[in-house]
Amino acid sequence: FVFGVPKETFPHENRVAATPESIKNLVKDGHQVLVETGAGQKANFADNVYQEVGAKVVDSKSIYDQSDVILKIRPPENTKALKENQTLTSFIYPAQNKELLNQLQEKKITTFAMECVPRITRAQTYDALSSMANIAGYKAVVLAANEFGRFFAGQMTAAGKVPPAKVMVIGAGVAGLSAIVTAKNMGAIVRAFDTRLATKEQVKSCGAEFLEVKINGEVVDGAGIGGYAKEMGKEYLEAELALFLKQAKEVDIIITTALIPGRPAPKLLSKELVENMKQGSIIVDLAAETGGNCELCKPGELYNHEGKVKIIGYTDLPSRLPTQSSTLYANNIGKLMQYIVGTIKDPNGNMTQVDLNDDVVRQSLVTLNGELKWPPPPIITS
Ligand code: NAD
Repeated sequence: FVFGVPKETFPHENRVAATPESIKNLVKDGHQVLVETGAGQKANFADNVYQEVGAKVVDSKSIYDQSDVILKIRPPENTKALKENQTLTSFIYPAQNKELLNQLQEKKITTFAMECVPRITRAQTYDALSSMANIAGYKAVVLAANEFGRFFAGQMTAAGKVPPAKVMVIGAGVAGLSAIVTAKNMGAIVRAFDTRLATKEQVKSCGAEFLEVKINGEVVDGAGIGGYAKEMGKEYLEAELALFLKQAKEVDIIITTALIPGRPAPKLLSKELVENMKQGSIIVDLAAETGGNCELCKPGELYNHEGKVKIIGYTDLPSRLPTQSSTLYANNIGKLMQYIVGTIKDPNGNMTQVDLNDDVVRQSLVTLNGELKWPPPPIITS
């Protein structure tokens, strides 16, 4: 196949969907790879390095004209540049991008969505959501440290004793655990909370204290389907908010990552809570894209509330660590493509002949030659 890697066009997007390393593997399998001029520049991958591993560097039009499969990160704004019967693999978010979904059908595109890759053990190598969440968690702590006026680690110096910073992480999924490890490595005292009790051991093994919410003296588990969180009742949320209010008076930094699939982010940090934090405190809201966990979060912005607490609501944290996020994403998408192509039985077959009985293929598939295949049937586990 001919794989094409265009330059991302979304404003301030610094990532690229293929790196010289990921291209090597595709070339080794006998594929050809075209990379748009300057596609990797902002992620520190120069055109000549792509050429050295066997990719051809061409202009945008040639990418779309000559490729069988387009590899991207962001969903395309529309399908104008795509050719009929082409294959596209990128983040798609079909539920939020109905117009794009219509266009993909009209143009008979075969589409694989990176966020639809099933989160099953054998598909971990292709799990770009986890790769990007890991980076977001790390970058959240780095941004907080950059805005915070003190050290993270405690120190005994000749000029006086410095106490360690106290960090609270809310939501201990992939991003939250990454934030915990990063803050802990920088020497902070870290405590964390998640509604899913299964996270308690993970939090503790990362070296943080696990906070608990009790209703009538009992600890309640908020685990929902597929290892995700369920929406909690009013009484539970009130108890949770009370816990956070108490913590907010003590901690210097709060990193929130709480999400519930298909629902707006739960509002966990009120204006009252923010105003109860110490002067110079920092909040990083990783749920900003779906409305934010903090009532005062302004998505996409760093907002300084009354000159007292900075609330970081950036929605593009992986793009702010572009070399690392491109490297991991390129591995995810490159290996997914190798896997999907490997399910085609006919040696001369095209991308529409992928194995629809394979869970990884079927769950990721959004359109097949224009035919709508999303949402996929649930995976049957025995
Ligand atoms: P996510 O981004 O959907 O949510 C982040 C976290 O927020 C979750 O841990 C959730 O429990 C928590 N949360 C929701 N509401 C909350 C509230 N009110 N207060 C506090 N916390 C709240 O989650 P994710 O990081 O994508 O991962 C979710 C699950 O998927 C985990 O169990 C993870 O282990 C699992 N997972 C499995 C695989 C795999 O097997 N391949 C890969 C990735 C993730």
